[in-house]
Amino acid sequence: MADFAVSPPAQAQLDIVGSDKKFPVRRIYCIGKNYVAHVIEMQQDERDPPVIFMKPADAIVQNGGEIPYPVFTTNFHYECELVVALKSGGYNIPEAEASSHIFGYAVGLDMTRRDHQAAALAKGLPWEVTKAFDHSAPVGPITTVEDTGIMTTGHVRLKVNGETKQDADISLLIWKIDEIIAKLSEQHELKEGDIIMTGTPAGVGAVVTGDVLDCSVDGLSAMQVRIGPPAA
Ligand code: MN
Repeated sequence: MADFAVSPPAQAQLDIVGSDKKFPVRRIYCIGKNYVAHVIEMQQDERDPPVIFMKPADAIVQNGGEIPYPVFTTNFHYECELVVALKSGGYNIPEAEASSHIFGYAVGLDMTRRDHQAAALAKGLPWEVTKAFDHSAPVGPITTVEDTGIMTTGHVRLKVNGETKQDADISLLIWKIDEIIAKLSEQHELKEGDIIMTGTPAGVGAVVTGDVLDCSVDGLSAMQVRIGPPAA
Protein backbone atom coordinates (compact mmCIF):
# COMPACT_ATOMS: atom_id res chain seq x y z
CA MET A 1 0.00 0.00 0.00
CA ALA A 2 1.48 3.32 -1.06
CA ASP A 3 1.99 6.04 1.50
CA PHE A 4 -0.04 8.82 -0.14
CA ALA A 5 0.89 12.44 0.50
CA VAL A 6 -2.80 13.46 0.46
CA SER A 7 -5.90 11.30 0.89
CA PRO A 8 -6.54 9.15 -2.20
CA PRO A 9 -9.99 9.52 -3.78
CA ALA A 10 -12.77 7.15 -2.80
CA GLN A 11 -13.53 4.40 -5.32
CA ALA A 12 -16.70 5.33 -7.26
CA GLN A 13 -19.18 2.48 -6.98
CA LEU A 14 -22.70 1.32 -7.73
CA ASP A 15 -25.08 -1.07 -6.00
CA ILE A 16 -25.86 -4.43 -7.61
CA VAL A 17 -29.44 -5.71 -7.38
CA GLY A 18 -29.63 -8.85 -5.25
CA SER A 19 -25.99 -8.70 -4.12
CA ASP A 20 -24.04 -7.25 -1.21
CA LYS A 21 -21.10 -6.66 -3.57
CA LYS A 22 -20.49 -3.27 -5.19
CA PHE A 23 -19.61 -2.51 -8.81
CA PRO A 24 -16.46 -0.34 -8.96
CA VAL A 25 -16.77 2.39 -11.58
CA ARG A 26 -13.58 3.02 -13.58
CA ARG A 27 -14.73 5.27 -16.44
CA ILE A 28 -18.04 6.70 -17.60
CA TYR A 29 -18.33 6.72 -21.37
CA CYS A 30 -21.29 8.48 -22.97
CA ILE A 31 -22.85 8.34 -26.40
CA GLY A 32 -24.49 11.52 -27.69
CA LYS A 33 -26.97 11.96 -30.52
CA ASN A 34 -28.05 8.29 -30.48
CA TYR A 35 -31.84 8.64 -30.97
CA VAL A 36 -33.12 10.36 -34.14
CA ALA A 37 -35.96 12.20 -32.36
CA HIS A 38 -33.50 13.70 -29.85
CA VAL A 39 -31.06 14.73 -32.60
CA ILE A 40 -33.95 16.53 -34.31
CA GLU A 41 -35.07 18.29 -31.09
CA MET A 42 -31.47 19.48 -30.64
CA GLN A 43 -31.67 20.89 -34.19
CA GLN A 44 -28.73 18.77 -35.30
CA ASP A 45 -28.39 16.83 -38.55
CA GLU A 46 -30.04 13.44 -38.00
CA ARG A 47 -27.59 11.90 -40.48
CA ASP A 48 -24.57 12.84 -38.33
CA PRO A 49 -23.08 9.83 -36.53
CA PRO A 50 -23.42 9.62 -32.72
CA VAL A 51 -20.60 11.13 -30.65
CA ILE A 52 -18.46 9.80 -27.78
CA PHE A 53 -17.54 11.71 -24.63
CA MET A 54 -16.70 10.95 -20.99
CA LYS A 55 -17.65 11.98 -17.49
CA PRO A 56 -15.41 11.60 -14.41
CA ALA A 57 -16.21 8.58 -12.25
CA ASP A 58 -16.62 10.78 -9.17
CA ALA A 59 -19.61 12.47 -10.84
CA ILE A 60 -21.71 9.43 -9.86
CA VAL A 61 -24.78 10.12 -7.71
CA GLN A 62 -26.50 7.15 -6.06
CA ASN A 63 -30.16 6.23 -6.27
CA GLY A 64 -32.08 8.29 -3.70
CA GLY A 65 -29.43 10.99 -3.75
CA GLU A 66 -29.56 14.72 -4.17
CA ILE A 67 -27.97 16.67 -7.01
CA PRO A 68 -26.98 20.16 -5.87
CA TYR A 69 -28.13 22.66 -8.52
CA PRO A 70 -24.76 23.14 -10.23
CA VAL A 71 -22.67 26.25 -10.45
CA PHE A 72 -22.08 27.80 -13.88
CA THR A 73 -25.50 27.12 -15.45
CA THR A 74 -28.99 28.53 -15.59
CA ASN A 75 -30.32 25.79 -17.91
CA PHE A 76 -29.69 22.45 -16.16
CA HIS A 77 -31.12 19.54 -18.19
CA TYR A 78 -31.91 15.88 -17.58
CA GLU A 79 -31.18 13.14 -20.12
CA CYS A 80 -32.47 9.73 -19.04
CA GLU A 81 -30.47 6.85 -20.51
CA LEU A 82 -29.89 3.11 -20.42
CA VAL A 83 -26.50 2.41 -18.83
CA VAL A 84 -24.38 -0.65 -19.70
CA ALA A 85 -21.80 -1.90 -17.18
CA LEU A 86 -18.79 -3.94 -18.37
CA LYS A 87 -17.14 -6.92 -16.68
CA SER A 88 -14.27 -7.08 -19.19
CA GLY A 89 -13.07 -5.25 -22.28
CA GLY A 90 -10.19 -4.77 -24.68
CA TYR A 91 -9.35 -2.95 -27.91
CA ASN A 92 -11.16 -3.60 -31.18
CA ILE A 93 -13.91 -5.80 -29.79
CA PRO A 94 -15.92 -7.34 -32.66
CA GLU A 95 -19.65 -6.56 -32.54
CA ALA A 96 -20.36 -10.28 -32.41
CA GLU A 97 -18.38 -10.57 -29.15
CA ALA A 98 -19.51 -7.31 -27.57
CA SER A 99 -22.33 -8.70 -25.45
CA SER A 100 -19.95 -11.16 -23.74
CA HIS A 101 -18.33 -8.17 -21.97
CA ILE A 102 -21.59 -6.94 -20.38
CA PHE A 103 -21.89 -7.23 -16.59
CA GLY A 104 -25.35 -5.71 -16.37
CA TYR A 105 -27.57 -2.73 -16.96
CA ALA A 106 -28.88 0.28 -15.03
CA VAL A 107 -30.76 3.49 -15.60
CA GLY A 108 -28.83 6.74 -15.50
CA LEU A 109 -29.01 10.47 -16.08
CA ASP A 110 -26.58 12.37 -18.29
CA MET A 111 -27.09 15.72 -16.54
CA THR A 112 -26.15 18.59 -18.84
CA ARG A 113 -25.40 22.31 -18.62
CA ARG A 114 -27.40 22.92 -21.77
CA ASP A 115 -26.61 26.63 -21.93
CA HIS A 116 -22.94 25.84 -22.59
CA GLN A 117 -23.55 23.05 -25.10
CA ALA A 118 -24.62 25.26 -27.99
CA ALA A 119 -21.52 27.43 -27.59
CA ALA A 120 -19.28 24.37 -27.38
CA LEU A 121 -20.81 22.94 -30.54
CA ALA A 122 -20.70 26.24 -32.44
CA LYS A 123 -17.09 26.99 -31.53
CA GLY A 124 -15.79 23.43 -31.75
CA LEU A 125 -14.84 23.52 -28.05
CA PRO A 126 -14.56 20.48 -25.73
CA TRP A 127 -17.71 19.23 -23.97
CA GLU A 128 -16.37 18.97 -20.39
CA VAL A 129 -18.08 22.17 -19.28
CA THR A 130 -21.45 20.96 -20.51
CA LYS A 131 -21.21 17.26 -19.57
CA ALA A 132 -18.38 16.37 -17.19
CA PHE A 133 -19.05 18.36 -14.01
CA ASP A 134 -19.68 17.36 -10.38
CA HIS A 135 -22.83 15.27 -9.71
CA SER A 136 -23.54 15.00 -13.46
CA ALA A 137 -23.87 11.19 -13.50
CA PRO A 138 -26.67 9.74 -11.35
CA VAL A 139 -26.85 5.98 -11.95
CA GLY A 140 -29.18 3.45 -10.34
CA PRO A 141 -28.41 -0.05 -9.08
CA ILE A 142 -27.07 -2.50 -11.68
CA THR A 143 -29.16 -5.51 -12.62
CA THR A 144 -26.89 -8.29 -13.83
CA VAL A 145 -27.14 -9.67 -17.35
CA GLU A 146 -27.84 -13.07 -15.80
CA ASP A 147 -31.12 -11.58 -14.55
CA THR A 148 -32.04 -9.50 -17.61
CA GLY A 149 -30.66 -11.41 -20.56
CA ILE A 150 -29.12 -9.33 -23.37
CA MET A 151 -31.26 -6.20 -23.65
CA THR A 152 -32.38 -5.00 -27.07
CA THR A 153 -35.83 -3.63 -26.21
CA GLY A 154 -37.49 -1.92 -23.25
CA HIS A 155 -38.71 1.59 -22.59
CA VAL A 156 -36.58 4.33 -21.07
CA ARG A 157 -38.83 6.65 -19.05
CA LEU A 158 -38.31 9.82 -17.08
CA LYS A 159 -40.82 11.65 -14.92
CA VAL A 160 -40.29 15.05 -13.37
CA ASN A 161 -42.53 15.60 -10.33
CA GLY A 162 -44.70 12.72 -11.55
CA GLU A 163 -45.14 14.04 -15.11
CA THR A 164 -43.74 11.90 -17.94
CA LYS A 165 -41.16 13.80 -19.98
CA GLN A 166 -39.27 11.06 -21.81
CA ASP A 167 -40.56 7.69 -22.98
CA ALA A 168 -38.95 5.75 -25.82
CA ASP A 169 -37.78 2.25 -26.58
CA ILE A 170 -34.09 1.32 -26.63
CA SER A 171 -34.73 -0.51 -29.90
CA LEU A 172 -34.63 3.02 -31.40
CA LEU A 173 -30.94 3.48 -30.53
CA ILE A 174 -29.04 4.53 -33.68
CA TRP A 175 -25.88 2.73 -32.52
CA LYS A 176 -27.07 -0.49 -30.85
CA ILE A 177 -25.33 -1.64 -27.69
CA ASP A 178 -23.06 -4.14 -29.49
CA GLU A 179 -22.08 -1.44 -31.97
CA ILE A 180 -21.41 1.07 -29.16
CA ILE A 181 -19.03 -1.36 -27.43
CA ALA A 182 -17.27 -2.14 -30.72
CA LYS A 183 -16.90 1.52 -31.69
CA LEU A 184 -15.73 2.64 -28.23
CA SER A 185 -13.10 -0.11 -28.23
CA GLU A 186 -11.69 1.26 -31.49
CA GLN A 187 -10.72 4.40 -29.54
CA HIS A 188 -10.18 3.20 -25.96
CA GLU A 189 -9.16 0.00 -24.20
CA LEU A 190 -12.38 -0.89 -22.41
CA LYS A 191 -12.00 -2.51 -19.01
CA GLU A 192 -14.01 -4.05 -16.23
CA GLY A 193 -15.66 -1.28 -14.23
CA ASP A 194 -16.41 0.88 -17.27
CA ILE A 195 -19.99 2.02 -17.69
CA ILE A 196 -21.58 3.43 -20.82
CA MET A 197 -24.46 5.90 -21.00
CA THR A 198 -26.08 4.94 -24.31
CA GLY A 199 -27.80 8.21 -25.24
CA THR A 200 -31.08 9.90 -24.48
CA PRO A 201 -34.37 9.87 -26.36
CA ALA A 202 -36.38 13.02 -27.12
CA GLY A 203 -38.04 15.10 -24.44
CA VAL A 204 -35.06 16.62 -22.64
CA GLY A 205 -35.73 19.67 -20.50
CA ALA A 206 -34.68 21.83 -17.59
CA VAL A 207 -35.02 21.14 -13.87
CA VAL A 208 -34.85 23.42 -10.84
CA THR A 209 -34.24 23.05 -7.12
CA GLY A 210 -36.92 20.87 -5.52
CA ASP A 211 -37.70 18.80 -8.63
CA VAL A 212 -37.90 15.02 -8.22
CA LEU A 213 -36.71 12.86 -11.13
CA ASP A 214 -37.97 9.29 -11.47
CA CYS A 215 -36.03 7.29 -14.03
CA SER A 216 -36.71 3.78 -15.22
CA VAL A 217 -35.96 1.22 -17.88
CA ASP A 218 -38.29 -1.78 -18.26
CA GLY A 219 -36.88 -4.72 -16.33
CA LEU A 220 -34.34 -2.69 -14.34
CA SER A 221 -34.28 -1.25 -10.84
CA ALA A 222 -35.68 2.31 -10.94
CA MET A 223 -33.84 5.42 -9.75
CA GLN A 224 -35.07 8.57 -8.03
CA VAL A 225 -32.99 11.69 -7.44
CA ARG A 226 -33.89 15.17 -6.25
CA ILE A 227 -32.48 18.54 -7.34
CA GLY A 228 -31.13 20.24 -4.25
CA PRO A 229 -30.20 23.81 -3.37
CA PRO A 230 -27.37 25.47 -5.31
CA ALA A 231 -23.96 23.87 -4.88
CA ALA A 232 -22.39 27.19 -3.92
MN1 MN B 1 -26.79 12.03 -23.16
